[in-house]
Amino acid sequence: MIVPSTRSPEELAAEARAFLAEKAGPDTDPAAPTGTWLAPGRVNLIGDHVDYAYGVCLPYATTMATAVAARKRSDGLLRMLSQAPNGELLDASVALAELDEAVNAPDATPGILPDWRGYIAGTVHALGAGGMDIAVVSDVPLGSGLSSSAALECAVGVAARDLYELGTSDEELIAATMRAENFYVGANTGGLDQNAVVRGRAGHALALDFLGNTHEQVPCAMEGYQLLIADSHVEHSHATGEYSSRRGLIDAAAAALSCSFREEDIVERAVEWAAENPADALGNEPEVVRRRVRHVHSETARTIEAVEALKAGDVERFGRLMNDSHASLRDDYEIVPDALEAAVQAALQAGAVGARITGGGFGGSTIALCPDDRVDEVAAAIESATRSGGFPVPTIYATSAQDGARRV
Ligand code: ADP
Ligand code: MG
Repeated sequence: MIVPSTRSPEELAAEARAFLAEKAGPDTDPAAPTGTWLAPGRVNLIGDHVDYAYGVCLPYATTMATAVAARKRSDGLLRMLSQAPNGELLDASVALAELDEAVNAPDATPGILPDWRGYIAGTVHALGAGGMDIAVVSDVPLGSGLSSSAALECAVGVAARDLYELGTSDEELIAATMRAENFYVGANTGGLDQNAVVRGRAGHALALDFLGNTHEQVPCAMEGYQLLIADSHVEHSHATGEYSSRRGLIDAAAAALSCSFREEDIVERAVEWAAENPADALGNEPEVVRRRVRHVHSETARTIEAVEALKAGDVERFGRLMNDSHASLRDDYEIVPDALEAAVQAALQAGAVGARITGGGFGGSTIALCPDDRVDEVAAAIESATRSGGFPVPTIYATSAQDGARRV
């Protein structure tokens, strides 16, 4: 079954406001003006694991979103409250002065506040804003590859920017939210998510080119087709392990070869480098390096072609490129667990024109681009294939491209 609809921006904002009012402590000023802000999650249509490798990605902002209600405090404290979609109620306070100390310590290393608080407090602190009460309500599932982390950072970021009248540009906001994730939380992710969440525009996908740091809004109507997202409930965390190991190798190769991974001979050069410098290649065998670099190289080429296909309204070609991307992430980058493979194959057999894992992988979500008259069959096929494979049954959402982070 497809989730009929998630809460509207207005509903989320109203709930965040009520949550803030309900939980306000005696030390907060009830007269302080309260505002509400919203940031969507994002889905990446194609171009995964290339944002940190000078590549091209094609995300859009989703209907699932995160709202915050917030107001200023004069005591330099951040009070953070969250009703996460998993039902957890979170409540914490952090003094900005303590963050100052931790960040400016001579031995400061990434991971100053390595949990949910770091996304919020890191954003506020990186922007140079002051104390705030912040109440968060969200429909973006956590750790599902739909970027609940960037939705949280960017909702908080636009709130801090407005409340403290910081005059921060979108560019600076993206940099601050990335710093929250990379430095305060210590998750070594690229800039895809924050760009998509801040720059999202209804009816458009965002072509992001990390070589020239440029972006382009590409109309994304896809008349006659519907995008389904299947949250596998196979959990991943970007703050740990495997994601960093893939990225670590690519960062090392980029530094050693001073390349953009678009060079025709880059795969062979990387294999040679790894054979001659096994320690620099972080212990990856040359044949593993071949596959990893081949993914990065081919994924950017495919995404550039997919942008052309989208502009030309060629949905069938777009779908084939999605399928090729999935195969590359599975066979070369090796980030596709069996549960997500089952969902992708089921979607294709039931008539999707393209299906793939999306996001950082090792769990998270798959997407399927379906002709309107195949949507229900595709959803049913995903559920039945995962159930009979003994995997968790995904939650399936229908989504379309929405506006990015903003005041509501
Ligand atoms: P993704 O961004 O794909 O959902 P990440 O691992 O990057 O996965 O980020 C998930 C983490 O972000 C959660 O474990 C939690 O710490 C934090 N987070 C995201 N949204 C919320 C929220 N609404 N409330 C509290 N924490 C959140
Ligand atoms: Mg994330």
